[in-house]
Amino acid sequence: MRTFGNFRPGGHLEGASFYGELLPDGQTVRALQHPFWIDPDTAAASGTDHPLSALEVGVPLAPSKLLAVGRNYAAHARERGHEAPTTPMTWLKGPSSLLAHGGVIELPHPEHKVDFETELCVVIGRTAKSVPAAEADRYIFGYTLGLDMSDRVIQDSEKQFYRAKSFDTFTPLGPFVYSDVDSSDLPVTLHQNGEERQNGRTSEMIFKPRDIVAFLSQSTTLLPGDVIMTGTPAGVGPVKEGDRLEARIGPFAPLVVSVRNAAR
Ligand code: MG
Repeated sequence: MRTFGNFRPGGHLEGASFYGELLPDGQTVRALQHPFWIDPDTAAASGTDHPLSALEVGVPLAPSKLLAVGRNYAAHARERGHEAPTTPMTWLKGPSSLLAHGGVIELPHPEHKVDFETELCVVIGRTAKSVPAAEADRYIFGYTLGLDMSDRVIQDSEKQFYRAKSFDTFTPLGPFVYSDVDSSDLPVTLHQNGEERQNGRTSEMIFKPRDIVAFLSQSTTLLPGDVIMTGTPAGVGPVKEGDRLEARIGPFAPLVVSVRNAAR
């Protein structure tokens, strides 16, 4: 498993953000000369090393498209009152909704029910157009962890999901991206203020990452660095100001964010 991210010198050290690889010691970040999803091997050779403790972690990717799949776990489809789908149900989220690990989800409508959804996210590594499922794994760079925050009042009153899920800060992502990882049967959990709310496994997905990449690539050219959220297990629930959310998937570092009401 290799670990990549976006970093910025923290504290009083001003500096530009950069993409880097977190080395196996878990403490050293090797700067890359271009984004890791383009070609991590050639980029790593001439980088500079930094201690992770001196860096802040940013959003690990800058996707051209942030795609999402819904009702991909049967138990979650049921808890929302729906049948499990027979073809993947997909939509776009605004990339401007991305939020880094340690950030704050801002609720623009505190009176609305806004749910967390913990999701394994696919990161595309090669341009994918009309790819068969049997070959789709070769187009996947790796995986990360995301929260698909969802305003249910808007989602349930409009045909399109785009607006309900694209408010600024509604897609916490990271902290890191992992390549060379088997994502087929990883535990997925969400703790809200220390209490477990979600507990599923990626093996429960109806459509697997390779199926989703193949399906989406029939209609849309997927580009390196694009992100696909693969749906959430059961146990989704509403957030409120002051909440602390901790999402975990398998061996990935936890994604921790807090919640507050947006200024009016
Ligand atoms: Mg979702």
